Amino acid sequence: MPDEKEQLFLCKPCAEEMKNYKTVASVEYIRPARDKGTCELCGRRRFGYVCEVEYRDVEREDVK
Ligand SMILES: [Zn+2]
Repeated sequence: MPDEKEQLFLCKPCAEEMKNYKTVASVEYIRPARDKGTCELCGRRRFGYVCEVEYRDVEREDVK
């Protein structure tokens, strides 16, 4: 199964926080946004980054 990736607009604090999520394998900054946008995690309008978020299937890993 291929890794699930998604591009999201995130402010930097949210991008850093997502890295700590169990369901997130990695967060890569693709490019900084020129204009303010709505962060898809906190919903605030601020400068941020277009990020590529790679998810992982934790439910499967948690089965022991
Ligand atoms: Zn945010």
